[in-house]
Amino acid sequence: MEYNIQNYKQELIYWAKRLYEKGMSPACSGNISIKLDKKILISASGTCLNDLTQEDIVIIDYNGNLLEGNKKPSSEKIMHSEIYTKRDDINAIIHCHCPLITSFAVAGIPMKKPILPDFALYYDEIPLIPYHCPSSIELAEVVGKTFEKNSAALLKNHGIVMGADSLKNAFYQLELLRAYTETYFGAEVLGRAKSISKKNVEEIKRLYRKN
Ligand SMILES: [Zn+2]
Repeated sequence: MEYNIQNYKQELIYWAKRLYEKGMSPACSGNISIKLDKKILISASGTCLNDLTQEDIVIIDYNGNLLEGNKKPSSEKIMHSEIYTKRDDINAIIHCHCPLITSFAVAGIPMKKPILPDFALYYDEIPLIPYHCPSSIELAEVVGKTFEKNSAALLKNHGIVMGADSLKNAFYQLELLRAYTETYFGAEVLGRAKSISKKNVEEIKRLYRKN
């Protein structure tokens, strides 16, 4: 079967719904995109990700100009294009206001404590970007800069942005970070979230690199 633009839109709809169902994109927050031949398929502005339809996905160029569709692209379109411009290996981006993950961004704490092996395997740290107005050029530029060396960033008092080679992987990475947050909070309530030792972090990285 030939993979046409409708199939890509269907993929965006599928992962957008999963994001909403998991409580990671409340109300009309969050936006989602994929890169396709130097074009970007992105959710329209003000759309609840659970209600996304094919008409709510528009195509823009890297300057944010509308190429196809009747709706206004997400107001964070420049943030998405900055990331795609900087990173050839990133094909999909999810930006959301997942309340649990955003708690770290509101408390002003970067996610870096290696409390779980799967977090330690993928991340040394999810950096925290200082507050800039949502949808602003300033925010887009600092996110683009951060993505030169990272594939995820916490936006202070705002949310998180995640990039990956596919939407599926961007979603699973976000789900991993949400589980990290839940576990972290639970452990703090019970006593204290304790870290894995540096030696154990190195061990897990070595083991998985081999496989
Ligand atoms: Zn936002």
